[in-house]
Amino acid sequence: MRQMRPPWLPLAVAGLGLTLSMGAWASVATADPPPPVAGALTSGDSLLPNQGNGGYDVRHYDIDLVYSPVTVAQPSGSIQATTTITAWADQPLSSFSFDFKGLEVESVTVDQVPAGHSRIEDPGQDLHKLVVTPAQPVSGQFTVAVSYFGQPEEYVLQVGFTMAEGWMANRDYTAWVNGQSVTYPADGGATGIGQPNGNMTWFPANLTPADKATFTTSLTVPDQYSAVGLGQLREKTPAQPGTTRWVWEESVATSAFLAVASIGQFTEHDGQVTVNGQTIPISAYGDPNLEALSPGGAEGVLELLEEILDWGTDQFGAYPASVAGYILAPVRAGWALEIFGKPFFARPIQDIVLVHEYVHMWAGDSVSVQDWRDLWLAEGFATYAEWLWQESQGGVSALAQAESIWTANLDESPLWVASVARPAVEQLWGIGSYTGGGLAFAALRAGLGDDVFGQLVRQWFATYAGANASTEDFIDLAQAVSGRDLSQWAQDWLYEPGRPAAWPDLTTYPPLPVVPAEPDPDPDPGSGSGSLPGGGAGVGSSGSNLPDTGAKLGLAGLALSASLVLAGLALMESGRRLRLVPVPSRAAPIRPRGPRHGL
Ligand SMILES: [Zn+2]
Repeated sequence: MRQMRPPWLPLAVAGLGLTLSMGAWASVATADPPPPVAGALTSGDSLLPNQGNGGYDVRHYDIDLVYSPVTVAQPSGSIQATTTITAWADQPLSSFSFDFKGLEVESVTVDQVPAGHSRIEDPGQDLHKLVVTPAQPVSGQFTVAVSYFGQPEEYVLQVGFTMAEGWMANRDYTAWVNGQSVTYPADGGATGIGQPNGNMTWFPANLTPADKATFTTSLTVPDQYSAVGLGQLREKTPAQPGTTRWVWEESVATSAFLAVASIGQFTEHDGQVTVNGQTIPISAYGDPNLEALSPGGAEGVLELLEEILDWGTDQFGAYPASVAGYILAPVRAGWALEIFGKPFFARPIQDIVLVHEYVHMWAGDSVSVQDWRDLWLAEGFATYAEWLWQESQGGVSALAQAESIWTANLDESPLWVASVARPAVEQLWGIGSYTGGGLAFAALRAGLGDDVFGQLVRQWFATYAGANASTEDFIDLAQAVSGRDLSQWAQDWLYEPGRPAAWPDLTTYPPLPVVPAEPDPDPDPGSGSGSLPGGGAGVGSSGSNLPDTGAKLGLAGLALSASLVLAGLALMESGRRLRLVPVPSRAAPIRPRGPRHGL
């Protein structure tokens, strides 16, 4: 949760005189608009500063793409596309940039007026930009339409290790079937995908996780192909003879690296499930050969998906995407990626990988990292949740599993080399973010107890649903919910590299000191009577829709009403406004489940 300051408070006490005098000057001067500036070529990310751009906030991407399948001359197929980006600039911009690599730009308009454009290519710095210079500076809402064409490329990210992403053709797939090697030939399709920046190979985007937007993805492909984008299928209509246009809509904002275009000769699975009172449309697309190689086939995967959604909504709260499904296509990348609502798999879908990617719908996709160094919040939680899932299936408990990993990995283990929450870029997708992050969550649960930790998890996903959050936001909320001083936990398990010396128990983390509250002029009989020290103004008094219930937990400038937390309500920062987010009280305890049907 970001620090909130009531609008009438100056930035700092020391600056009070200056602030007042500037205010007096401003009140007599004519309000000239500030001079236009060039939007930054950087997102300011601490680890991947060249991914993402500054000066504006994208609200919506409308990608309209026509695909011609793979041929010998066009090994990744070819595309002709127009991407229309609706964005907002707080201050006038004389120019701005998008992440964009390869392809030829045909035209750029800004608010329907032709605009200048140029490219910056610096592969050594992972810097690939389309710089747009509008005829007039833009301010407030503006719309940019970029038309482009060509053969989109695969991209190999090199950050201490290499990772294939970008636009990748479906490949021949070889598997052992009944003791024999069988090769299934490629189907001519392709997929545009990538974390952190592979999507720049097929549409211009602001590829920082901090800029979330809604998506319309229209894909026109030959009739024998399916074409899958983000969200729900809104239209599937004949286009040019022999082609079909598929229009997808995701109305929940998400980071641009979680968008996808996947084209192949897929089997389509539609339907809906109702879990914990929530009805979720199902939309899954898979290469039939890879589906058959998945445990239980497509039917087994879809059954498991329903089970995961039931378990996930029980443990973590409402399912956040507008649809649930998967995409299974044999591209070269060996990884799976948590595409919002439709995780992507390049290999037959294994149970625990489906669990991991689905937990990302909450951890990473709905509650997204603010900066890549916070990746442990997503990957660590998804790893912890794998252990939690195994526990729910009758396996060893998540805490026992985590403690045994801590016990077995002595000081010299590579597990402890990176700082979990302050990794170097080459450590970002390493064991520290995944297993180290998972251990940090498990250690916190061991120190807080199951009930408080479970409440924290649901509060976290409700408070930051659809938003971005940092490591420090998590620590603040964890302290607010638990009433414990977690600075030692943060030091041992998040910030300092090296093996923590002890596994926590319920006595490890001390309570935050309680100091008497100011007398409440309008006391609420249900409110508490103590408040906790900490800087900053209470959001309860600055947010007009929040009752002032007296007891406040003041943490790093954040003040949360203890009684609201206890009542299962959280404060959510949404832009500059605050709103209350109800969180259901303790969900049902983890239910042991029998073995899955068909496996
Ligand atoms: Zn993951």
